[in-house]
Amino acid sequence: MLCRACARRGWVLGESMNYAEIKYFDIANGEGVRTSLFVSGCRRGCPNCFNDVAWDFCAGNLFTADVEDKIIASMDHEFIDGLTILGGEPMEPENQAGLVEFVERVRRAYPRESGKTIWCFTGDVLERELLEGGRHHTEFTDRLLDCIDILVDGPYVDALHDISLRFRGSSNQRIIDMPVTLAALRAGETGAAAVRQWQDDPVFTTHTM
Ligand code: SF4
Repeated sequence: MLCRACARRGWVLGESMNYAEIKYFDIANGEGVRTSLFVSGCRRGCPNCFNDVAWDFCAGNLFTADVEDKIIASMDHEFIDGLTILGGEPMEPENQAGLVEFVERVRRAYPRESGKTIWCFTGDVLERELLEGGRHHTEFTDRLLDCIDILVDGPYVDALHDISLRFRGSSNQRIIDMPVTLAALRAGETGAAAVRQWQDDPVFTTHTM
């Protein structure tokens, strides 16, 4: 259901996408200094969600080619480590449709050899919801997962909230190394056993020097 403003400007759910915010020089949502894109729209409704203003698919502004250009240009500095996509829910089917060509464009502009990474935060659990047969597996999901370096997955669970966790709100969430996980899946591993988690610097995982 679109708000009146979106309907007036001709926006059609599923044909385009809104974004709630872009943060430049962000150091909170992934390794290093990043450009972070917060897309609009999430149906999950985690209690005490950190960003409930982005639940509405009509929140924010239309994600246009000009916005794409600006994000890609913002990454063209040696000190920028990559792009982070969060929300809202990037893996809502409408947002997958709105993101896939942009994410592929970013990957072409900054291939893995460039050292720049693409992180994505989702409330979905990879093997349950995003792989073939999952409720959020769409015609775009595999293309997105192929471009993503790190997928932080799982819903935010308030009872498991832990402020000592880096890049996660609750301890059920995983920071997944996607290329290695996809290689394991293609080699025939299945389910959670195929998931390879990203290894953070020990100083951050143990909090000891
Ligand atoms: S999935 Fe993310 S944006 Fe959606 S309700 Fe949960 S924490 Fe909030």
